[in-house]
Amino acid sequence: MKNNNQQLEEVIEIESDSLTLTQINYITSTKDRLRFYEKRYPDRLYSTLLMSLTHEPYTEEHAKGLWSKINSHMEELNHTLQRDVGLSVATLDYLTNFSDNLSAPKIIEQDKSNFVSRAATVDELTKLYIRDVFDVIIKKSIYSAQRNNTSLCLLMIDIDDFKQVNDCHGHQTGDRVLTEVGGSINQSIREMDIAARYGGEELAVIMPDTDREQASQVGERIREHIERLKFDSFSVTVSIGLAELDKKCRTPEALISAADDALYEAKRNGKNQLVLSHKTA
Ligand code: GH3
Ligand code: MG
Ligand code: MG
Repeated sequence: MKNNNQQLEEVIEIESDSLTLTQINYITSTKDRLRFYEKRYPDRLYSTLLMSLTHEPYTEEHAKGLWSKINSHMEELNHTLQRDVGLSVATLDYLTNFSDNLSAPKIIEQDKSNFVSRAATVDELTKLYIRDVFDVIIKKSIYSAQRNNTSLCLLMIDIDDFKQVNDCHGHQTGDRVLTEVGGSINQSIREMDIAARYGGEELAVIMPDTDREQASQVGERIREHIERLKFDSFSVTVSIGLAELDKKCRTPEALISAADDALYEAKRNGKNQLVLSHKTA
């Protein structure tokens, strides 16, 4: 039987713990629609939404409260970053910064094919975290390093002469290079490091609890691994800028800009090398 005033073409049955992000966005897209599902599933709507996003069990009451806070937080984030960050990034940011029962790695590192947060936070091509995750994690990592008085390093990595790869071998080959380079970076870093696709062919690695000497070693390892990757008739190299959090470099913007400056110096010096930022040297 059709529901009188509901013009819902399709009703999503909430039976399992893993709604897809598309289903979550659909259910929560308007107030009316959300209210419809609230009535239909009074005892499990919000706990199922939260379970699907985080794989953590919450009581319905707790989940409902969290849901409303996450939504306010998403509006704030969208406003601050001046773009739409989406529900999974907002959930990640809210739960890691304002709630003590969930840690960042847990929500973003679970490797389940149907894990909504993972699907929405990892870049298709490189399998590195998307830019929004980088923005969230760098803020959180700086805060945590300053509070605990631990070191923190950032690597900015850019593929050398990548335009030429596209021009000479085609865009598809370029995409394959990006995939292999992403895979190589993921293999070279440690569990606690977070690698992200910062933009186009510029990649970044956040390294908590790591001083410049250690970071420099990891960076060198990344550079060497990539240099050794074999493509049909060519190979690629990367340039790397390294900056360490310190008194002169204490905000995300300052740290990124210091690593970026070092990266451009590496380019000017002839590419295929790692340069440590002057600002933090
Ligand atoms: P440099 O050594 O100075 O970094 O030179 P470059 O050629 O790597 O730098 P440039 O910024 O001129 O070119 C970057 C190229 O990366 C241009 C752009 O088309 C390509 N690119 C960005 N994203 C993608 C992508 O997702 N796939 C492919 N195939 N190419 C991409
Ligand atoms: Mg480049
Ligand atoms: Mg570039």
